Amino acid sequence: MLRKFFAYYKPYKTLFLIDFGCAVSSAVMELGFPLAVNKFIDDLLPGGKWLLILWACLGLLAMYALNSLLQYIVTYWGHRLGINIETDMRAKLFAHVQKLSFRFFDNNKTGHLLARMTSNLMEIGEMAHHGPEDLFIAAMTLIGAFVLMLMINWKLALLSVVVIPGLIVLSLYFNRKMIRAFQRMFKDIGEFNARVEDSIGGVRVVQAFTNEQHEAAQFAKNNEQYRQTKFVSYKIQAQNASASYFLMRFVILFVLVCGTWFVVKGEMTSGEFVGFLLLSGVFLGPINKINAVIESYPKGMAGFKSYLELLETKPDIADAPNAMDPGPLRGDIRYSGVTFGYDNEAKVLNNVDLTIRAGETVAFVGPSGAGKTTLCSLLPRFYEAQAGTITVDGIDIARMKLASLRGQIGIVQQDVFLFAGTIYDNIAYGNLQATEEEIREAALRARLQAFIDSQPDRMQTVIGERGVKLSGGQKQRLAIARMFLKNPPILILDEATSALDTETEKAIQQSLAELSEGRTTLIIAHRLATIKNADRIVVVTEQGIAEQGKHQELVAAGGIYTRLHEAQFGS
Ligand code: ADP
Ligand code: MG
Repeated sequence: MLRKFFAYYKPYKTLFLIDFGCAVSSAVMELGFPLAVNKFIDDLLPGGKWLLILWACLGLLAMYALNSLLQYIVTYWGHRLGINIETDMRAKLFAHVQKLSFRFFDNNKTGHLLARMTSNLMEIGEMAHHGPEDLFIAAMTLIGAFVLMLMINWKLALLSVVVIPGLIVLSLYFNRKMIRAFQRMFKDIGEFNARVEDSIGGVRVVQAFTNEQHEAAQFAKNNEQYRQTKFVSYKIQAQNASASYFLMRFVILFVLVCGTWFVVKGEMTSGEFVGFLLLSGVFLGPINKINAVIESYPKGMAGFKSYLELLETKPDIADAPNAMDPGPLRGDIRYSGVTFGYDNEAKVLNNVDLTIRAGETVAFVGPSGAGKTTLCSLLPRFYEAQAGTITVDGIDIARMKLASLRGQIGIVQQDVFLFAGTIYDNIAYGNLQATEEEIREAALRARLQAFIDSQPDRMQTVIGERGVKLSGGQKQRLAIARMFLKNPPILILDEATSALDTETEKAIQQSLAELSEGRTTLIIAHRLATIKNADRIVVVTEQGIAEQGKHQELVAAGGIYTRLHEAQFGS
């Protein structure tokens, strides 16, 4: 995992080396001070060598000035390094998540994905900056200070490091606990984002049912869970901090006692003693640093783990290695022996055979839940059939590039998803390369003009999140305008007008009829009146395709369709 992590440093090698170099130099300089004090007390002080003292002070001043510059570089450029890596990871993750299949989104909560793209990655950025650098500096300082301590008085040096193993064991112990706590914390954050997304996204439903209190109570549960997790992680942090504080003070006290003894016995000068004491402070400093790393490392690593997990989730559906671009399709569709279920137990489609000629308009009717939508969503490969093949113009869709296939299929659904932008942006979504002229033309053909003219900002009117400021009919017209712009040879209309009142439906039907002209069209409809004129009607039941034929034929046949027809129109 660490190797994968360091791969992200690659583009910033220079930045990393500069940052690293400065950090190391700065750490080495810190070692100079105790030595200087040692010389001060032993050599300069007794004789009152003022000139040398002045020079020594000037030297120290210069060193501190240089060090403060280094500190600036480390803090600023080091953080730039961290944020660069964080941004790269976020971009990579976003691009990847966009490619994951419908099945993935069926089973994952948006809130969790949100957390993984925001808070988790921030922790990784922090670690990317501090992790390796702090650890290395800590090691350098630790070793440097120890060597100098050995040089001053090896006996005392050896005596004072006996606590080190204890500190390491302590660190490892707490580190392990912290990673677990942070993983739990990330899960909690995801859970609570999911809750917010759900409750706020559905706030209109919440208020309509006056279930605000219920939602608040649900939210309180997640909030409480998060609080408890945080309590645990703070407790671990505090235990770690207080245990290591005590160990460190113990070392200083130990040095103080033993050092005094050595000075009294004449094995050490007072200057060496003071220098040694200061060095042991420097020696213990990294342990604080290590504690800081202990805090940021598990957070970062927990974040990185869940980042990798998501990044390494393969899309169920992707281009085959030898995927080809079929060029413009005519729209001859053939399902042969297609079997599909959302899970392995229940099959929604069983061995379905169906042929649709280019330019034909085929309507699907049947009870809700029979699998009409499912049948249609296999065509753009939103889901993959478990058995059988689907071909368009004789080419297996599994062999086509996804982009070429989906680029030539247009879908209008019952609930149109609009983005929180302007009317113009939402139509333009149908073809991002379209010119303004083409977008106006599409609006015109979808009969949106009157509506647009009635708006204060015309095409630039903002329609609210998911288009909340529009009526059902207006949303549908927008969706139709989008399709005119996309201009695909194959069209799927999935209960596009089912949610509308009959008046609006009639008006929209006309636009849809114009839209489907010259395209292979699959219509799923609820009201039979809207599909009477289809070239063919296919009756889908849970057992599969039950009947097909023209409206008149099916009405006369006395089967399921006849019954549906009687139910809607009387006999
Ligand atoms: P229709 O469009 O004919 O009303 P659908 O194709 O939407 O029917 O659904 C067929 C069956 O598949 C239903 O039993 C439904 O519960 C199930 N189903 C639909 N979508 C999913 C999904 N994303 N995950 C799991 N099951 C689904
Ligand atoms: Mg459906």
